[in-house]
Amino acid sequence: MAAHSISILITGANRGLGLEMVKQMIETAQPVKNLFACCRDPDGPKSEVKVSTSYLNFLPYIMHRNDACDHDSIKQAAKQVYSVTGAGGLNLLINNAGILFRDNVQTTTPENMQDTFNTNVLAPVLITQEFTPLLRTASKASMIPGMSCRKAAVINISALLASFESVKRTYNFLPALSYRISKASLNMLTVCAAEELKKDGILFAALHPGWVRTDMGGEGGDIDAQESVKGMLAVMTSLSERENGAFLDYQGKTLPW
Ligand code: NDP
Repeated sequence: MAAHSISILITGANRGLGLEMVKQMIETAQPVKNLFACCRDPDGPKSEVKVSTSYLNFLPYIMHRNDACDHDSIKQAAKQVYSVTGAGGLNLLINNAGILFRDNVQTTTPENMQDTFNTNVLAPVLITQEFTPLLRTASKASMIPGMSCRKAAVINISALLASFESVKRTYNFLPALSYRISKASLNMLTVCAAEELKKDGILFAALHPGWVRTDMGGEGGDIDAQESVKGMLAVMTSLSERENGAFLDYQGKTLPW
């Protein structure tokens, strides 16, 4: 997706959509300069990581199981990234890691609510906070006018299930109460951050990847990870200040809040 050498960080990069993003970014004709593929355990039982190149830096433990709000490890990761990118900063941060419980109002538990909030909301908040200085650096260093993912941007991987408008159509099929609440919060983070940091030239957008056949999406998904990521990378490439704070799907369609 990169038109010129940029630095990118992706969370949840050991499997599913995160890993597919890493693969497609590596295969691009114009490789990225630094690709920070973050995951809590690259050697874990579910990990499908088999990619390794000179520009791929694994930063394990950027987040920890049951403790995605581990502020210290996120600060540590930001320091490590800074030590590699220096004055170039970080151009693109993709908050992709996420979890989903199949709960509803009657079955959810404090643990479900807390774990989902930690992973899907608190972690993106803290990661965005810690990496904002690096994104600001990238924005200042860039000669590109306006806003773009090649300059400085945060993409939050959201979900159609976050859409209030979709509830009547989708709730009975997949309640996922804690997940819906968390992704709606992630969307609010996207809009607030877009407003707060537009003066720094940092673009924020929430992307729905489609219903994808991954561990989370299950076998009945509409599309495979390749198609979803191909679409999302194309959408990211097309983003400008017009889409700052937008909620879009993998085909670039604006979704209702
Ligand atoms: P997967 O379940 O396949 O992968 C989830 C990823 O998130 C894994 O890399 C996992 O790492 C990581 N992760 C989960 N919890 C944590 C944590 N506490 N700390 C660090 N990493 C964590 O899901 P998908 O690839 O399908 O989903 C990716 C994103 O897309 C998610 O945000 C999801 O909500 C969103 N999405 C997916 C849809 C779909 O149909 N698949 C639809 C709409 C949105 P580990 O291996 O360590 O568990």
